[in-house]
Amino acid sequence: MTAKKQHMYEKLGINPKVFAFGEETENALRSRFDEFDARAEMNQIKVLQAMQESKVSEACLYGTTGYGYNDIGRDTLEQVYARTFHTEAALVRPQIACGTHALAVALAANLRPGDELISPVGKPYDTLEEVIGIRPSRGSLAEYGINYRQVELLEDGTFDYPAIRAAITPRTKLAAIQRSKGYLTRPTFSVKQIGELIAFLKSVKPDLICMVDNCYGEFVELSEPSDVGADLLVGSLIKNPGGGLAPTGGYIAGREDLIENCACRLTSPGLGREVGATLSVNKDFYQGFFLAPTVTAGALKGAVFAANIYEKLGFPVVPNGSESRHDIIQAVTLGSPEGVIAFCQGIQAAAPVDSFVTPEPWAMPGYDSDVIMAAGAFVQGSSIELSADGPIKPPYTVYFQGGLTWHHAKIGILMSLQKLYEAGLAQL
Ligand SMILES: *Cc1c(COP(=O)(O)O)cnc(C)c1O
Repeated sequence: MTAKKQHMYEKLGINPKVFAFGEETENALRSRFDEFDARAEMNQIKVLQAMQESKVSEACLYGTTGYGYNDIGRDTLEQVYARTFHTEAALVRPQIACGTHALAVALAANLRPGDELISPVGKPYDTLEEVIGIRPSRGSLAEYGINYRQVELLEDGTFDYPAIRAAITPRTKLAAIQRSKGYLTRPTFSVKQIGELIAFLKSVKPDLICMVDNCYGEFVELSEPSDVGADLLVGSLIKNPGGGLAPTGGYIAGREDLIENCACRLTSPGLGREVGATLSVNKDFYQGFFLAPTVTAGALKGAVFAANIYEKLGFPVVPNGSESRHDIIQAVTLGSPEGVIAFCQGIQAAAPVDSFVTPEPWAMPGYDSDVIMAAGAFVQGSSIELSADGPIKPPYTVYFQGGLTWHHAKIGILMSLQKLYEAGLAQL
């Protein structure tokens, strides 16, 4: 069996040394992988039960056109999300273009001129800078007279409670909490940590709306931030909850009145949730959400596998090979431009789509250095599919995530190592 497998890997371009190193690393991770599988099983029960209790029927899998009135598939799916995340309501729509859009809707819908927005967890995700107006931008919250305050994290990545207390004013209406580190080096917060932060925020100002950017976090743990007090939970369907099948979309789940505000902002005042055709996405939204716990577990195995492979070879990795996981992102510091490029070219070479394309670093709008991106995805830009990207600047770190199946994640990581090995950048 092993000989046959090694031979197949060799035909794929992965040499026996790289293969053997992968097998040895994987074998040492068995019990860790069992934990991910057990969690996926429990999250599967959660999703299945939500679908059954919501009485998902075959009719739900078809969509509507035009106004999208009486779209039973859409309305039932929103119940399924609400039941799974234990919220009063949810908005799950293909009209939500991406995660940034979902966050922008949640913020703009629930803030009014004169209100203040606070980030108690330091700098938010890059694209939110223009949404908020941290970087001046057309249509930003700042243009509508919404103020923003940011409290930095402490040196060790924990919350600066006294500074947060001092930053909350009578006008502070909403706190935006980003769960995943995104492309920063701070740790990702656990659901438990987020719960503690929310409890503190509510103790200072009980009516403060607590919104969590849940991108990359869904189904990584057994509970979600909505289980520990978050009023709004926001994410993208081309990440974890879309299960790789959702072709576009985003979700916002939370308190009924806040979700109604979001619907009125997304569509129009007076129309709210009643309109919004689903065309032909309903089946993929359901099926993707159904697969999401398993797909997320596969991505987690890939992340832990990559951490262990590169840690053993002496490269700094965040999170490290053994610590607990709160999102699916793995950072690997390769220490040179050539390392970042080889890694990304390996991921690309292992893709099911566009494997013959060679990614190169490129100047991208909004970035202060060239960036290289590897993605051979079925859905454009989908980062629950195997993908990697890195800015070409010190310390030369790549951010790696996804994999629709654990096996594909493994193949991609071994291919990245193969490229580093061929370039003489990794010794085996
Ligand atoms: C992906 C992501 C977003 C939204 O990004 P989009 O590319 O617009 O979907 C926001 N916050 C975090 C932490 C993310 O990872």
